[in-house]
Amino acid sequence: MTTVVAAHTHPRGWLDNAIRLIEADSRRSADTHLLRYPLPASWCATADIALYLKDESTHITGSLKHRLARSLFLYGLCNGKIDEQTTIVEASSGSTAVSEAYFAALLGLPFVAVMTASTSPSKIKLIEAQGGRCHFVDRPGEVYTEAQRIADETGGHYLDQFTNAERATDWRGNNNIAESIYQQMSHERHPIPDWIVAGAGTGGTSATIGRYIRYQRHATQLCVVDPENSAFFPSYAQGRGDIVTGAPSRIEGIGRPRVEPSFLPEIVDRMVSVPDAASIAAAHHVSRVLGRRVGPSTGTNVWGAFGLLAEMVAAGVGGSVVTLIADSGDRYADTCYNADWLAAHNLDPSVYAGALGEFERSCGWAWSGSSTAS
Ligand SMILES: *Cc1c(COP(=O)(O)O)cnc(C)c1O
Repeated sequence: MTTVVAAHTHPRGWLDNAIRLIEADSRRSADTHLLRYPLPASWCATADIALYLKDESTHITGSLKHRLARSLFLYGLCNGKIDEQTTIVEASSGSTAVSEAYFAALLGLPFVAVMTASTSPSKIKLIEAQGGRCHFVDRPGEVYTEAQRIADETGGHYLDQFTNAERATDWRGNNNIAESIYQQMSHERHPIPDWIVAGAGTGGTSATIGRYIRYQRHATQLCVVDPENSAFFPSYAQGRGDIVTGAPSRIEGIGRPRVEPSFLPEIVDRMVSVPDAASIAAAHHVSRVLGRRVGPSTGTNVWGAFGLLAEMVAAGVGGSVVTLIADSGDRYADTCYNADWLAAHNLDPSVYAGALGEFERSCGWAWSGSSTAS
């Protein structure tokens, strides 16, 4: 007689199904578009340059943090940190918490986002709409230890985006953002971009792109654009990892008061410090050109990309530049698309309209701010 082993038992049944659910979600989702940005025909054709925007706003949860959340869950699951009893905890008041709440709900796990009490009600609503719970602390610096404390107390798992972003993403490929960009560029006139431009919040996106560029031996350079009040730019310029500005960024998603562990300066070829009002002016400008609103960090990206394109044209070289639409402007109707908010924060985008206008007219770049190369 043969021994019958039930074919449907699995030694790690819940885990097996959890990973299946995440992979199935990804299989049902389309890749994000790589849009060709309409540079002015008057000078663009003769200049032989092109700008592309990887549109990360079209992920199901609305931002590039969808990729990060998926990676952090798979990393936690495959490292044995998440099971069917696990409370998932994160220190985030923004898009990361929205995307992570989505994946927690997909797996039927409770999710707690730790944030300051000053977080806007619209953000809280977005996180709660995905089934997450918000836990408040008084000071921004407390979120990390409080997230860890809740995880310890509940026997839960602190996803810790700022530490784990760089290691949770498959940098060699597996359709990460870099591999996807190069595949989508493959039939373009200049398929290997001269530059890829990205902002840094966790630093995970720039780490993935920088590593992939090296691994594939592409000649592309990586430019990281950074907002005011961020520790990343001064840290890079001075070669010091211990810089703390202590001030929050006004460009949501990018710029940090401390140098986060997932930011890898060694693989960044250039950094540009972009004034916040310039980021917002550029976000408004791109929104007009595309006919739909983009988030403020997309403005920072495009400001950096315009400067590089102008530099290429001035040097007489053709080529391509790629940057990201990190999220849509829909999340910012009360902030960078609101005149009262701008005035209250002393931000006047009109100061930078001239530089953007000159770029449109002649591809000239009438701005020389802080920029530094490694
Ligand atoms: C997180 C974020 C970024 C930066 O991405 P990282 O991979 O965390 O460095 C840029 N823009 C927005 C809107 C973000 O939410």
